[in-house]
Amino acid sequence: MNANILQTPIDYLKGVGPNRADLLRKELGIHTYQDLINFFPNRYLDKTRFYKINELQRNSAEVQVVGKITHIKSVEQKRGKRLVADFVDETGKMELVWFRGQKWIRENLKINTPYVIFGKTNWFNGLFSMPHPEMELVEEYKKQLRTAMQPIYPSTEKLAKAGISNRVFHKIMQQLFIETKGKFYDTLSEELTSELKLLPKAQAVFNVHFPQNQELLAQAQFRLKFEELFYIQLQLLIKNMLQKQKIKGYVFEAIGENFSEFYNNHLPFELTGAQKRVIKEIRADLGSGAQMNRLLQGDVGSGKTIVALMSMFIALDNGFQACLMAPTEILAIQHYNGLVELCKNLDTSIYLLTGSTKTKDRREIHEKLENGEIDILIGTHALLEDKVKFKNLGLAVIDEQHRFGVAQRAKLWRKNQVPPHILVMTATPIPRTLAMSLYGDLDISVIDELPPGRKPIKTVHRYDSNRLKVFAFIKDEIQKGRQIYIVYPLIQESEKMDYKDLMDGYESIAREFPNEQISIVHGQMKSDAKDYEMDRFVRGETQIMVATTVIEVGVNVPNASVMIIESAERFGLSQLHQLRGRVGRGAEQSFCILMTGHKLSKDSKTRLETMTATNDGFEIAEVDLKLRGPGDIMGTQQSGVLNLKIADIVKDNDVLKLARHHAMQILKEDPSLSLEKNKVIRFTYAQLAKHKNIWNYIS
Ligand code: ADP
Ligand code: MG
Repeated sequence: MNANILQTPIDYLKGVGPNRADLLRKELGIHTYQDLINFFPNRYLDKTRFYKINELQRNSAEVQVVGKITHIKSVEQKRGKRLVADFVDETGKMELVWFRGQKWIRENLKINTPYVIFGKTNWFNGLFSMPHPEMELVEEYKKQLRTAMQPIYPSTEKLAKAGISNRVFHKIMQQLFIETKGKFYDTLSEELTSELKLLPKAQAVFNVHFPQNQELLAQAQFRLKFEELFYIQLQLLIKNMLQKQKIKGYVFEAIGENFSEFYNNHLPFELTGAQKRVIKEIRADLGSGAQMNRLLQGDVGSGKTIVALMSMFIALDNGFQACLMAPTEILAIQHYNGLVELCKNLDTSIYLLTGSTKTKDRREIHEKLENGEIDILIGTHALLEDKVKFKNLGLAVIDEQHRFGVAQRAKLWRKNQVPPHILVMTATPIPRTLAMSLYGDLDISVIDELPPGRKPIKTVHRYDSNRLKVFAFIKDEIQKGRQIYIVYPLIQESEKMDYKDLMDGYESIAREFPNEQISIVHGQMKSDAKDYEMDRFVRGETQIMVATTVIEVGVNVPNASVMIIESAERFGLSQLHQLRGRVGRGAEQSFCILMTGHKLSKDSKTRLETMTATNDGFEIAEVDLKLRGPGDIMGTQQSGVLNLKIADIVKDNDVLKLARHHAMQILKEDPSLSLEKNKVIRFTYAQLAKHKNIWNYIS
């Protein structure tokens, strides 16, 4: 197949014409023959089987029957008439029924002529009937470019209104295959096709539009899904490769005093296997000569901080500075205190810079930063201000990345001639499935193991009607010296009502616990007031913290052992998991109690069940992805994984892995795709890039 003919505008296809072409462009983005070929059915009706009338079952799906009409009559009913035809085969009789278009049907139906009918049946008065069947004369049926599995194409209201029905689509597709003679050059290498036993391209596209049977359809879909994912992965990997060649980074070869001294003499605990592995990955990056851009994922409490610190030591050991940026002041302070404590036996100079740093201190910090007296600077967005100039920033660690945009990250770069290495840490687990397609061009490390000795948080679901028991339980825990979080949902659109819920809740808790001190924190408070209240809780001066989700990110109060989430059905899974992560940070057994009313949707139930069943953030993220689809998950909007034409990012995970594996193998052996055997791949890749077919997926 000549690649050019596939670029023919859709207007030129017989049976399309300017009006339809316009609709196809506007409604479905189909501009060319190629686009039309890649417009895949979203489901198929199984017409592989013909039923005899005496084989029909009640409540069966759509069925296909061959027979003849013997008689047609109009039947009066309360509202208008219906048209009823007796339809028979050699095994019995059924009825075909029409409520609309009766005149036309009556005039066009042929008596005693074999028809193939297709549709859903009803069982009524001892007889099967089929309302508004699809019908075709057997004689015609035999002539068609025949397909046993009938494809159903996605449609839109406008298309349906304009009469571009599924049948029309089918016709257009037929025409397309006639005009292009159904011949397509293969787009994957011989090596791949034979190793994976893939259908040839021509056969695959034909069978996806005109499947001959289930088996061939499955093979065709597999081949096309693989191809789609393969080229996306190839693109991501090539992008990553080029980026590494293009963006030179500082080479941190030395493992020196800070790192070794700390590792040998001051580690407060044995590192977990996962922590060790991740530090190794980071070390390799820092020594590679390319700028590191690594995402470090690890569930809440998995111990990302120590990994960050040891990475920063590597920078210091090579004569560079490092910084750690947190999304809020509270978190920055916590990091500062934590790192100072960890480094108390070393002479690392660590400073804190936030929005509330006094002018005098600020000036001192600016100075010391520029003359290199500061090793590690910890802070908030304040680090990004122009006045903040490092002598030589070697590594920037960013905690909880979604609060920092790409533009802000770039600001850090501009602080140096050579961009510093970047380590982004997040506790929001991105399902592996998604990470691979979203961040195929970013390196990812995962801490998938919690430090030993952690008692898993016990999570239960309680109905509001059991509130008194829950309160009694809280009292016990407070008696034991523990602290409690009570969290209310705050969702923007209904802010007023949520705010009232929170205040009502606060009042009833104040009544229930007259002897306890209670903190309250919500989004409408000034940040000083918020910090003050938070602080009292952190210092143990209050026993209960009533809050909205503002406490979601990072707050660390090891003595807090109970997290109560009110109206838990209103939270998303990842948010529930983040909230739960506020407890279970100390030595004591911790609890998470999900409070709800009795009325729960199916999805809410699934969310609650998932929460009570597992503490594993990745498992939860996978369920979340399945419930919500990739559309709502962070970062997917821009990435365009939604624009996949045939593969499904969730369901076709195995194909994705396979595609990625092979793309990697090929690039490893032949990074420039210049080997003869990879010629087809190089050519197809160039074509896709030229016609921007890949760029649709990747911004
Ligand atoms: P997060 O990944 O949520 O940022 P942190 O780095 O704050 O987690 O670590 C959570 C807690 O676990 C801290 O108190 C830290 O000291 C402790 N911790 C981290 N790694 C280990 C380990 N390998 N063994 C024991 N405790 C650890
Ligand atoms: Mg942390």
